[in-house]
Amino acid sequence: MIEDITLVTGGTGLVGRAVQEVIEAAPPQGQKWVFVGSKDADLTNYESTKALFERVRPTQVLHLAAFVGGLFANMEYKVQFWRKNILMQDNIMVLCHEHGVKKLVSCLSTCVFPDKTTYPIDETMIHNGPPHPSNEGYAYAKRLVDVQNRMYNSQYGCNYTSVIPTNIFGKHDNFNLKDSHVIPGLIHKCYLAQKAGEPFTIMGTGKPLRQFIYSLDLAKLMVWALREYNEPDPIILSVGPEDEVAIGDVARSIARAMDFQGEVRFDATKADGQFKKTASNAKLRRYLPGFKFTDIDDAIGETVAWFKANYASART
Ligand code: NAP
Ligand code: GDP
Repeated sequence: MIEDITLVTGGTGLVGRAVQEVIEAAPPQGQKWVFVGSKDADLTNYESTKALFERVRPTQVLHLAAFVGGLFANMEYKVQFWRKNILMQDNIMVLCHEHGVKKLVSCLSTCVFPDKTTYPIDETMIHNGPPHPSNEGYAYAKRLVDVQNRMYNSQYGCNYTSVIPTNIFGKHDNFNLKDSHVIPGLIHKCYLAQKAGEPFTIMGTGKPLRQFIYSLDLAKLMVWALREYNEPDPIILSVGPEDEVAIGDVARSIARAMDFQGEVRFDATKADGQFKKTASNAKLRRYLPGFKFTDIDDAIGETVAWFKANYASART
């Protein structure tokens, strides 16, 4: 007998595909998981989202769909980052409420945190000042997920919450040269530089620091949050501050995984974005003290191998 139907929006994306891999590796008894992408419903449109909910009849929702991109896309399309994300998250909340969905987990990002802050940042500090101007459209839209969750909880007693992952990478990522996040963008650039026998060029100084999380690690934590995490307040899903790495070191790890022997260059005329957004994972550690993250060089190696094997069909 099916006890729960879990709808995963963004099921065709980086995180959605990783959640699907985790679920298929150990299919849970009595549960049906439905993974959907933008071809199944346009979540910016209420009627389309309503039709999806009427077809699937979910009892739980993992809302991963979003208008997502790296620093350079965020700087160029602020209005779209704001509006598409606001519309999607509002339609999802309204329909979860209309359908009596028992649990909703949505996704924020460490990009939402204030630019001027003390480190490490924690879950209580989201609204303590403006975000970095480079990604304010995305950041303000995503901050409102947290506000909406608390309002639905306070007025209707809904079990809606959010998770805050750091910079995610892995198989099925968006490897577009212009709009992607840094790791998939640099994997694609290194691949092309190797083919052409040209230098591998990294944007910015390579000095900014980031906490990266492998999509399969995050997927396990997302499934845990859906099952076990019941506070309306968000939880940061991240490696600890001690595992923060410089962009330059990540670029060199990619070059090693690709066996790239040419010159590695930094183009300091390009934006560095926020220097760091060091996030505390103390709350996660209180819940899951023994969780083991994949070593970043191993995860980059797996992602590079996947990209090379799937170049023809990868999102580029
Ligand atoms: P992704 O790979 O870009 O996938 C985005 C997903 O959203 C795709 O499945 C896409 O469907 C779907 N989508 C986009 N617009 C839609 C629309 N109008 N209607 C329905 N579906 C739509 O993104 P991701 O990296 O997996 O991100 C998952 C979540 O993590 C997002 O909430 C994001 O904000 C958050 N996050 C990401 C990062 C990161 O580094 N990637 C960091 C922190 C937080 P199609 O592919 O079928 O078009
Ligand atoms: P962020 O973590 O939200 O800032 O987003 P990104 O994943 O786009 O990472 C941005 C950082 O990586 C900045 O310091 C950029 O200067 C640096 N970077 C270096 N090369 C690239 C690239 O090819 N694409 C992107 N997106 N960022 C790059």
